[in-house]
Amino acid sequence: MTAQYDAIIIGAGISGMYQLYRLRELGLRTRVFEAGDGVGGTWYWNRYPGARFDSESYSYGYSFSNELLDEWDWSEHFSAQPETLRYLNYVADKFDLRCDIEFDSRIARAEWNENRTQWRVETEDGRAATARFLITAIGPISTPTMPNIPGVQYFEGEGYHTGLWPHEPVDFRGKRVAVIGTGATGVQVIQEVAKTAGRLAVFQRRPNWCAPLHNRPIDAQTQRKIHASYPEIFARCRESHGCFIHKADPRNALDVSPEVRETFYQKLYDEPGFGIWMGNFRDILIDERANATISEFMARKIRERVMDPRLADKLTPKDHGFGTRRVPLETGYYEVYNQENVELVDLNETPIECITRGGIRTTEKEREFDVIIYATGFDAVTGAFDRIDVRGTGGMALKEKWAGGPKTHLGLQVQGFPNLLTLVGPHNAATFCNIPRCIEQNVEWVTALMQFMLEHGRTRVEASAEAEAAWTEHVYQTAERMLFSKIDSWFMGINSNVPGKQTRHFLLYAGGAPAYREKCDEVAASGYRGMAFE
Ligand code: NAP
Repeated sequence: MTAQYDAIIIGAGISGMYQLYRLRELGLRTRVFEAGDGVGGTWYWNRYPGARFDSESYSYGYSFSNELLDEWDWSEHFSAQPETLRYLNYVADKFDLRCDIEFDSRIARAEWNENRTQWRVETEDGRAATARFLITAIGPISTPTMPNIPGVQYFEGEGYHTGLWPHEPVDFRGKRVAVIGTGATGVQVIQEVAKTAGRLAVFQRRPNWCAPLHNRPIDAQTQRKIHASYPEIFARCRESHGCFIHKADPRNALDVSPEVRETFYQKLYDEPGFGIWMGNFRDILIDERANATISEFMARKIRERVMDPRLADKLTPKDHGFGTRRVPLETGYYEVYNQENVELVDLNETPIECITRGGIRTTEKEREFDVIIYATGFDAVTGAFDRIDVRGTGGMALKEKWAGGPKTHLGLQVQGFPNLLTLVGPHNAATFCNIPRCIEQNVEWVTALMQFMLEHGRTRVEASAEAEAAWTEHVYQTAERMLFSKIDSWFMGINSNVPGKQTRHFLLYAGGAPAYREKCDEVAASGYRGMAFE
């Protein structure tokens, strides 16, 4: 018999867990289907060495429960993955979430049934369930992609994608290790593995601009201060563009003298976290000349930290300015290349030809390895949707609807897919955010919508084609003025390893979390303008 619920949530990461908590409060029979065997989403899968927050820990945890805030102490300013996963398990226990979560259950299909006004989902192993509402909580960076290099399957050593890391520790001591990829993940894993590997070769296609994390433990006095100031911390996050504690400086880089710029850049470089990206002059991500000033500063830092000038040059991005792709935060990353056991293989000079049984062959030569780490990224944002066969009214496939780029209403709804709510979906501000802050906003908006429907006896909601077109147009317009819209990255839906993802379609929302929140609130206050109820 098919199990029946009021609501089905796909995914038990940060958003799925909180959505479950809220829907239970509404009294809805809710079931969560989770592919892994535990809660935590990103922090469940990404167990690679060096994985840690780039957000200040105390700005990242859930803010909805004062009791939870009181009970939990973060040990470091930027917590490492094991601690974050412990935290999410603590949350699951505290709110008794597990009893409504079906683990080891990857949803393969979801189909809307118009006659019954309900969704039917099916797991990969053929179990089915139905519910009036379907909420996707599948994460923007959750579909790992292996490189499209011939021979990956023939390698006889150990091979790991960072996003599918084994649960048991991997020992690198004395081993010959290769890392492919130098994004935010690659940088974290490289600086960690370099500590113990016998030999480490980093295969770099495009370098990124990396900035120091400046992590440190939280001492007892700071801990007390953090606990006393949670309201201010979250208020500060609410006001900033990406819900970080860092707020853009109101000045333009080009309006101040070179000396003032230099002092300011140095101050940001010396401070922890994303300040240098999020708290910088407001024109550096919009104006190429302003951007050039911070890029020159960052290039100088690389030259100062990497002893071999030729290596420093290879590590310096030439094809994009600082901040126009995701900035990896690092701890001693550049110094890794001063180590004798580390080699940088520049794939622009010597591309990889294939992976062999024993290692990696470039156009220069074959190198042998015991371990290959694939830090090659994810089919971002839409990728997690693409791997579920989602069918809306008239059997329309979501993948086909989004083939020319996503179309959504507020990044939360899709016309033709009634009662489907996409937490942290494409064109949602949560994709460009200190994510739990925006997740809470998304979940609370969705919960209020469902409460409205319950109170008004509505069973079906669908965004109108006009509202969807208007939001989609607004998303693209807002992105146009940003420098990152001219650069290939996962922000723009580019993934060289996934067929059909070579054309730029902006996947995020660049208008900022405060503007997004205001728009969502406005829609709710108007009785959900742009949405049709039955
Ligand atoms: P990514 O930024 O997409 O980087 C993937 C890397 O792999 C790039 O250097 C890419 O080179 C390289 N690559 C991909 N395919 C390749 C191929 N066939 N041959 C050679 N190189 C190849 O992915 P990521 O580093 O996993 O990061 C994804 C996102 O996850 C981040 O931007 C961030 O939002 C999130 N993240 C967050 C944290 C945190 O908060 N602490 C940590 C890690 C990641 P190209 O650049 O040339 O394409």
